[in-house]
Amino acid sequence: MSETIDEHVTRLHRHGVIDMHFDLPMDLYDKRGRTDVLGTDFVDDLAAGDIAVAGVALYLEDRYLPEMGLRVALDQIARLYLEVDASQRFSICRTRLEIERAREQQKIALLLTMEGVEPLGSDLDLLRVFYELGLRSLCLTHVRRNAAGDGGLFAQTGSPAGGLTAFGRDVVRECERLGIIVDLAHISPAGFNDIIDTTTRPPIISHTNARKYFDIERNVTDEQIRMIGQRGGVIGINAVLVSPKKEEATLDRYIDHIEHVRDLIGINAVAIGFDFFEFIFRQWSEPEQVAFQKKFTHAHFVPELGKHSDSRGLTRRLIERGFSDGDIEAILYRNWMRIFEEWL
Ligand SMILES: [Zn+2]
Repeated sequence: MSETIDEHVTRLHRHGVIDMHFDLPMDLYDKRGRTDVLGTDFVDDLAAGDIAVAGVALYLEDRYLPEMGLRVALDQIARLYLEVDASQRFSICRTRLEIERAREQQKIALLLTMEGVEPLGSDLDLLRVFYELGLRSLCLTHVRRNAAGDGGLFAQTGSPAGGLTAFGRDVVRECERLGIIVDLAHISPAGFNDIIDTTTRPPIISHTNARKYFDIERNVTDEQIRMIGQRGGVIGINAVLVSPKKEEATLDRYIDHIEHVRDLIGINAVAIGFDFFEFIFRQWSEPEQVAFQKKFTHAHFVPELGKHSDSRGLTRRLIERGFSDGDIEAILYRNWMRIFEEWL
């Protein structure tokens, strides 16, 4: 009576899969004229992928900055709460215990995160307000400059050398005091070092890729990967920037990134930060798509890993590539849960 591979995947997914970067609030805000967007556009796909926890990121497009930044961020949170109330299938969680309770009730736990501190402007007091609204993880910048520092460019060199500002350091210290996970995704190389020097708790990179396979300053070098490992942190692997070459943007190359981080700092430091983005990209007009590709980089979507239901195919491929059951559960679930235990 041997187990089929599908049963094997189901067994490895019994706790679910944790994805620490999903641009959900922006999409809910863009669709604010509709009701039950979670139920119509998202719940089936998330459930088919056995998603247990998703880090859902507040993110502001340039057109809202600076004046509308705070208002749009608050409206994104408002949409999230309204949608969660309407669907009954989700729970916005603030603690590890709330995550566990959501799972017992078969609900998908959402952890509110922030991608770039633009909603704060330069007002540290507002961080407390967002914490009260549920914010539990924060990365300081996207690619652009803000009051905290600069993002790493989608280029091999040229990111600003200034590192974090004094405000950026204050934000990091206040996150540690409140219990908001400090996320090094997107930060410039100089800012990366400043965050590591400022933090005392295990830092994360919610969604990134190894520069070994995609050499841009938005991604991480082997030295940066080791710095996270030395501090007991966790790195989520991004499913969008796996290769600059279309033909190498494959599921296997995604797993190569996982293996690379594992080989450098161990299986307990690598996890998932899919950053599924193709669905938003496809909703844009052609001029918007062209502008995006020009501004950042030509993102090659991975055909077999473009939505949450594809996570079962990822697990199947991890089994085929020889990862043990314990290793796969660490990548999918356990490593992020350990971070939640340490921070939340
Ligand atoms: Zn990002």
